[in-house]
Amino acid sequence: MQDHWVTRFAPSPTGPLHLGHIAAAFFARRHADHGGRFLLRIEDIDTVRCREVFIREALDDLTWTGLRWEAGVLRQSERFPLYQQTLDALRHEGLIYPCFCSRADVAREAAAAFSAPHHAPDGSLLYPGTCRHLDEAERAQRIVAGEPYALRLDAQKALDRLSTPALTYQELNRGPVVCHPGLFGDVVLARKDTPASYHLCVTHDDAAQGVTLVTRGEELRDVTAVHRLLQELMKWPEPVYAFHPLLIDSAGKKLSKRDGALSIKAMRESGMSPEEVRKAAGVTL
Ligand code: GLU
Repeated sequence: MQDHWVTRFAPSPTGPLHLGHIAAAFFARRHADHGGRFLLRIEDIDTVRCREVFIREALDDLTWTGLRWEAGVLRQSERFPLYQQTLDALRHEGLIYPCFCSRADVAREAAAAFSAPHHAPDGSLLYPGTCRHLDEAERAQRIVAGEPYALRLDAQKALDRLSTPALTYQELNRGPVVCHPGLFGDVVLARKDTPASYHLCVTHDDAAQGVTLVTRGEELRDVTAVHRLLQELMKWPEPVYAFHPLLIDSAGKKLSKRDGALSIKAMRESGMSPEEVRKAAGVTL
């Protein structure tokens, strides 16, 4: 294994931390052992679902479990102007377009445009490209009229810009894996209610922070294709990737805040020690 990886743990503070977060955080930290750097980043772009209290509690829980990170926790909600610069650069290249479709429009038009299946590998509905075909005058007129819109990447145009016919990502201990961003269609890079999307912010910040090894859950493996495309378009450095399995509960289901997975806070309150919590998360120091 290469030493000196720069890794990060990047939770979204939409709920209390559970064991899956502890496993993910220590997985990232462990890869920064042997002289690397370990960063913490708060991915709080969703200003509706993210809460200050979850950020405070997350930092407290992580410290309590024995995690240590480099000073200077970065918060994505303070970085919207930087993401805007990326969107401006992509717009300048003619690679993004405004999309006025509601979720219902997308569902209806996708059903009409494709025979099944019409989902991307991550389960999201494939966008049939309705607004890609609007002319500039109509776009301008609808924007001036105050119609809300998202910004989508024109995937075909973006793929045409690549200098290599096959896009790959480097997986730790595995080597290059061919990936297919086209399967995701025209992904959203800015939302009606949030000025920048997960794909845009996460790739932007990994590049900006010099992250050399991106670690994340196995369930996010497929979207690496979209991230690699953005990195190529923006000429950002290519990190290596390592994926960790998800923790599952006793019923074999993925632990999730939504299903009320037992929070670290609740475990602390029940009298568990940091060591016991780490053990429950499968972490050995
Ligand atoms: N913020 C994302 C989450 O909590 C993970 C960051 C990443 O994709 O690496 O699910």
